[in-house]
Amino acid sequence: MTKRRPICVCGPVSYFADDVHTTCGCGAPIVHRPYVSAEAIKVCIGCAANYTALHRMLGRPVRYRLPERAALEAATYLAKPKGSA
Ligand SMILES: [Zn+2]
Repeated sequence: MTKRRPICVCGPVSYFADDVHTTCGCGAPIVHRPYVSAEAIKVCIGCAANYTALHRMLGRPVRYRLPERAALEAATYLAKPKGSA
């Protein structure tokens, strides 16, 4: 059985100085955190939506998770007063 590679859904906007800037397979610019595993397929939000729709159409389960490290970074970022570094 072939192990499926994880998919990392990436946005187009960078929020951290050490973000990794790359390109989705469709050509859209995307940004992800540096600790995302090398084996993960990085995709833009549009491609992730298409992938999800395809899997639902085929009756396959689609699971999403937010890694704890990413959740903590997001919470810390959102808790900072606007305009602070
Ligand atoms: Zn894409």
